[in-house]
Amino acid sequence: PSSPRKLGVALLGLGGYSKGLLAPALQHTQFCELRGIVTGSPEKIPQWQKQYNIADKNVYSYDDLPNIANNSDIDIIYVVTPTSLHEKYSVIAAQAGKHVWCEKPMAMNPRECQNIMDTCKQNKVKLAIGYRMQHEPNTRRLASLKNTMPFGAFTRIASFAGYAGNGLPANNWRMQKEMGGGALYDMGVYPINGVRFITGMEPVSVTGYHEKSHPDTFTEVDETTYFDMQFKNGLVAQCGTSVVKSFNRLEVQCERGVYSLQPMQSYSGVRGKISDGTVLSPITGMQQTLQMDNDALAILGKGPALVSGEEGLKDIQIIQAIFDSAKTGKTVVI
Ligand code: NDP
Repeated sequence: PSSPRKLGVALLGLGGYSKGLLAPALQHTQFCELRGIVTGSPEKIPQWQKQYNIADKNVYSYDDLPNIANNSDIDIIYVVTPTSLHEKYSVIAAQAGKHVWCEKPMAMNPRECQNIMDTCKQNKVKLAIGYRMQHEPNTRRLASLKNTMPFGAFTRIASFAGYAGNGLPANNWRMQKEMGGGALYDMGVYPINGVRFITGMEPVSVTGYHEKSHPDTFTEVDETTYFDMQFKNGLVAQCGTSVVKSFNRLEVQCERGVYSLQPMQSYSGVRGKISDGTVLSPITGMQQTLQMDNDALAILGKGPALVSGEEGLKDIQIIQAIFDSAKTGKTVVI
């Protein structure tokens, strides 16, 4: 018997992540494949078509995007643009009747997140957010400990994700507030989502502050942001994120043991350690391959939807509360 047809994915926004990670990962997926591209840069088209054997009829500009409704080759549109454009293109994709995969952070604010979710629902298409860590097996294994709590209650959590950069030119979207740049949007979702995923708990309040060491470079956006997420019963997660400092770990202390991921959010090499001596070695293969296959299986009705729009929305609510706290100097209730 012939194997069932793979779902067709169109990548929308052919920047660094699409080119460097998603298109390569789609060469190894079992349940979906790269079949289309949507771009505002015509000069990128020939190379993509040649490298990935993409038919002329599956190449779109942003302006033609609504016409993709008539193209049965494409089942899923994966939105990989600057964050401020996630809502716009996710909505057009859903209205064209295509399933939506939307990169992290989901959108600029809760209203935009809700609009994406509502439009997908109205058009009866599935939505998944590109939180690749929720598909990473070592991360999943440690997250599953919350179901049995083998070391007793959580006592303290720490989670930090950042990279040591020097900033980018001022015309790069990552340096612009309105486009969704800055550390909290770009990297802050890793500690926020990581802590929520590993504990299964939602913070009740947050306290945050910004640290700026390069004020002439980071004129609009946050560069390093530290924040505490407070949970009921007094549990606190101490977190931080940065685009000038390197951090990459998540540590969970419990009454009778501790477990951690370090690095916690790299594209490869994520390792886990449990105080009973268990060591979780890095997996082989790309996280993005696993992510897209899991998300394709969910669309085919053969697997659970792993990362819903609600997950993306909750992180954006927390990001907004951290910004409010940093501005006012007060703890903000969520
Ligand atoms: P890039 O700046 O490298 O690429 C963004 C692409 O978006 C551009 O190349 C362009 O593609 C398209 N685009 C459309 N409109 C605009 C505009 N007004 N300004 C700039 N670009 C535009 O960004 P990344 O690929 O690094 O990031 C894209 C998204 O992916 C972000 O949301 C980011 O957070 C997320 N991401 C997620 C990662 C993960 O691990 N999950 C890792 C890296 C990024 P074109 O020329 O084809 O139109």
